[in-house]
Amino acid sequence: MSLNKINIIDLSLEDLISKVPKKFQAEQLFDWIYHKYETDFSKMSNLSKDFRDNLINNYLVGNIKIVHREFSDDGTIKYLFQLHDGRTVETVLLRMKDDQIDENGDMLSQAKYTICVSTQVGCKVGCAFCLTAKGGFIRDLSVGEIVEQVLAIKRDREIEYNRKGNIVYMGMGEPLDNLKNLVGAIKILADEKGLAISPRRQTVSTSGISTKIDKLGLMDLGVHLAISLHSVDNDVRTKLIPMNKAFNIESIISAVKRFPYDNRKRVMFEYLVIKGVNDSLASAKQLIKLLEGIKAKINLIYFNPYPDSEFERPSEEIMMKFADYLNSRGLLATIRASRGIDISAACGQLREKSGLELENLNSCN
Ligand code: SF4
Repeated sequence: MSLNKINIIDLSLEDLISKVPKKFQAEQLFDWIYHKYETDFSKMSNLSKDFRDNLINNYLVGNIKIVHREFSDDGTIKYLFQLHDGRTVETVLLRMKDDQIDENGDMLSQAKYTICVSTQVGCKVGCAFCLTAKGGFIRDLSVGEIVEQVLAIKRDREIEYNRKGNIVYMGMGEPLDNLKNLVGAIKILADEKGLAISPRRQTVSTSGISTKIDKLGLMDLGVHLAISLHSVDNDVRTKLIPMNKAFNIESIISAVKRFPYDNRKRVMFEYLVIKGVNDSLASAKQLIKLLEGIKAKINLIYFNPYPDSEFERPSEEIMMKFADYLNSRGLLATIRASRGIDISAACGQLREKSGLELENLNSCN
């Protein structure tokens, strides 16, 4: 595979239109790639012979490949992709609901899925609880490498192009640290002539780079935001996410308040509950106060101790009490279900098991 060739998955429809002789040819190509999932130009039968030859000589359709899959009993599938330079990233397909069929065999509602996408190889943020961080930062993913994770999984699972699904930028890496390519990917995935995954179905999950939240907000793309808050106390948060020194809790909350948001939707806050540190009802009270004025949803996550961690996992009883306290005071709170736990669906674990890279990566966000 020549690296001098242009990867079509890196291009928006507008980019493609500017590169090929006729607009309709670009649309036909988009149709073959994103609707028929064809990767071989020679099989794109309604394209002229000259055009196909031009494509074969100068372009390629994607350049990442699936090197490993792991299947969980709950329907979660974890993919390991190899990139053109031999690096690997992980992507997770979560099946949220099966097809609902009535007694006559008619479809009541289609299965729903969510794809958890990576945006970088490694990460610069260095969260203490995340083994991806331990491998350091290697490089940003290109637009095409982000888009192709979704396309390759839909092709692999034969998920029709127009079946509704959600994208969460929550795999390896900090999406806002690769903002330009992230935005390019969001737009390509949303293109009506392609996979048509509306920005409303795409969520950017960030560890809280407040200046970049503002930048993303100014673009007014219509995407959702999820914030890895994890603590209401700056000292504790700095221990978990060292970047909190530069972008503290107050700056993140201000940026979230400025973010253009669809009134019907809620901003998701991830909160790591740590035994004896932030699991008291006083902390729950502080959380309610902090999020006053924001239409928020809290996702409570059990803290899982990492090697040399000074923190401990809370009990189930404490978790329930914490969630009940928030819910009874109008702050919607859920406890994160550990989906795909039997296949280690935390980001990074598949890379470690595959032996493709040395880093012992473990989890993300
Ligand atoms: S949790 Fe996410 S943001 Fe933090 S180091 Fe890991 S990959 Fe980076």
